[in-house]
Amino acid sequence: MALTGLQIQKLLPRTNCKECGSNTCLAFAMQLAAKKVNLSQCPYASDEAKRILGAAAEPPVRLIELGADRSIKLGEETVLYRHEKTFAHRTAIAVNLNDTDPAREIDQVLDQVKNYQLVRSGEKIDIDMIGITNKGGIAASFVQLAERAWKSAGKPLVLRSSNPDALIGAARAVQGSHSVLASATVETADLLRAAAQGCEHALAISGEDLDAIVALASRMREQGFHNLLLDFQTRSLSEQFQTNSIARRAALKSDCRPLGYPGIKFLESQKDEGVWGVTASAVTEICKYGGICVLPSFDPSQLVTLLTLRLNLYTDPQKPIQVEPRLYAVGEPKPDSPVFVTTNFSLTFFIVSAEIENSGVSSWLLVPECEGMSVLTAWAAGKFSGASIGKFARSIGIEDRVTSREMVIPGYVARISGELEENLPGWRVLVGPQDASDIESFVKTLTTKHTK
Ligand code: SF4
Repeated sequence: MALTGLQIQKLLPRTNCKECGSNTCLAFAMQLAAKKVNLSQCPYASDEAKRILGAAAEPPVRLIELGADRSIKLGEETVLYRHEKTFAHRTAIAVNLNDTDPAREIDQVLDQVKNYQLVRSGEKIDIDMIGITNKGGIAASFVQLAERAWKSAGKPLVLRSSNPDALIGAARAVQGSHSVLASATVETADLLRAAAQGCEHALAISGEDLDAIVALASRMREQGFHNLLLDFQTRSLSEQFQTNSIARRAALKSDCRPLGYPGIKFLESQKDEGVWGVTASAVTEICKYGGICVLPSFDPSQLVTLLTLRLNLYTDPQKPIQVEPRLYAVGEPKPDSPVFVTTNFSLTFFIVSAEIENSGVSSWLLVPECEGMSVLTAWAAGKFSGASIGKFARSIGIEDRVTSREMVIPGYVARISGELEENLPGWRVLVGPQDASDIESFVKTLTTKHTK
């Protein structure tokens, strides 16, 4: 439970010695409550204050770091809804392989997962992890596949087996990958906790209901082990939605520390419901606080949907998604190809570039810095003026890169054409259509005129 400034002040020496940099202990306590300073700045804090404030400072959802470089981060969430504050860490997506899959299929999927990359809003998005399931029940083949996947793709693994010996063997074989062992039960938890701790992996724990998971997580916490993930057993989409929501609400609003860990979901059982069943379950996981979502197979169309949804959710809702300001090539433009200009609001950029692409005429698209605003908003804010576009075009040396001296501006800002011509001497400014859907016919008319 978060303590107030006054509650914290009572735990401090109250001598107002100023050594912490604050004028009074109360001022320091207020800063501590706001998490702007650290208790270690007070050299006279008692052991009791350290214990109480240390527990209060524990994040409601623990940070779990995976991967050799610990670059995959889960947890650390502090809010239930993204309009309150930007969600901290995205749901990690894993693609599963079974140790019973044919060798050729395994090679193919490993290659696909390793080389998969989706580019959205200028961001390159990879698949985060690989799931390895001990479906055949033989420890040796499971360990072998884990080792092979780790060496081949270099991605952290979700190692899943009901056989503790197989998990321990695989944990040792991929030590250094900072992977996940899944899933410990009340019977195997102590054994697997020791293996996870020794090999620096995280441990997923499971139980038949939330009470069982709380009891097991409490046991792990008492042993000082916090590198945990929670594997909720649910039998329907609605139960999955409810369980994830109840657990996260309990962690954030009721200070239920044993539920303050990221979740992990295996979608193998949804495979019978087809691609829609798996996708619906994965969407629920991404929207409702999932830590890791293990997909049963590699399906590019499903991945595009899920990764795009995830990107949209895990951005700051107060900041529009932007693309990098620069001169973009749409298709394979030549130096004398048409030059268009639009803003760096990603939605505008993708619509305009798609319409130019649809026209079949390769073109240049100049995108100045407009703080991610759409055309009219940027113009009204003075970020998309003839002067600013001209300045940006000169700063990137547009005249060294294109021989065309005509620039097409959006129809909605026709009034900046004169100002832009003044700021780009030697250029003719053409007013394009107001609606992006008319770009295709506009481009065709433009190129017809040029070829006459
Ligand atoms: Fe109070 Fe400690 Fe700061 Fe001194 S250093 S003013 S005792 S909080």
